[in-house]
Amino acid sequence: VSRFGRLRLPDGRVAFVEQEDGDALVLDGAPWAGGQQTGERVAIATATILTPVAPSKIVCVGRNYRAHAAELGNDVPAEPLLFFKPPSSLLDPGGVIALPAASKRVEHEAELGIVMGARLCDAGAAEARAAIFGATIVADITARDLQRSDGQWTRAKGFDTFCPAGPWIVRGLSTADLRVRCWVGEELRQDGSCGDMVFPPDELVAYISRVMTLEPGDLVSTGTPEGVGPIVAGDTLRIAIDGIGELTVGARAR
Ligand code: ZN
Repeated sequence: VSRFGRLRLPDGRVAFVEQEDGDALVLDGAPWAGGQQTGERVAIATATILTPVAPSKIVCVGRNYRAHAAELGNDVPAEPLLFFKPPSSLLDPGGVIALPAASKRVEHEAELGIVMGARLCDAGAAEARAAIFGATIVADITARDLQRSDGQWTRAKGFDTFCPAGPWIVRGLSTADLRVRCWVGEELRQDGSCGDMVFPPDELVAYISRVMTLEPGDLVSTGTPEGVGPIVAGDTLRIAIDGIGELTVGARAR
């Protein structure tokens, strides 16, 4: 298992890195694009951790856990239900979600994120599995009231800061049964298992590739387990996925 991230270094440069023994080994490019170690080593504690992803698109999946579909009064779809979040919605670990005045109900959705390592088009599940670079943590922040009133989900899911992701991409980890937990403050809100997905990651990635070509670095968010709920200004949101790490962000009025 190897771990990759993106840091702002003490001198201000931004670099992709590979983690080793609490240090970061600087790469000369994105790891999914063949970035190689430059020989420079930095203590992670001296740097700022940025979101490790830089996708051309973020493809998300709705209602991919039975219990979550049920808690919002929905059936599980017969095929994966796809939507986008714009790359402009990405938020660094440690960042602050900006709650828009247009919504009275912004909610957390803790999700496993899949980062692509190869271009993929019209693939089956085995080819999709081979094209996945690694896994990370995504918070699919959602203005629930606007999701309901708009019908289309673009606004509800697409506000700036509505896609915290990171802090690390883990490569070589089986995601089959990973535990996904989400706290708001000290309150445990979500506690699910990736094993309960209706469509597992390789099937999702293959399905998406039969709609649109996935590029190296693209991010697929795989849906949320049950327990979604509101976040308000001043809250701290913390998501943990076993084997990957913890993603923590704040919230404030926009
Ligand atoms: Zn979601």
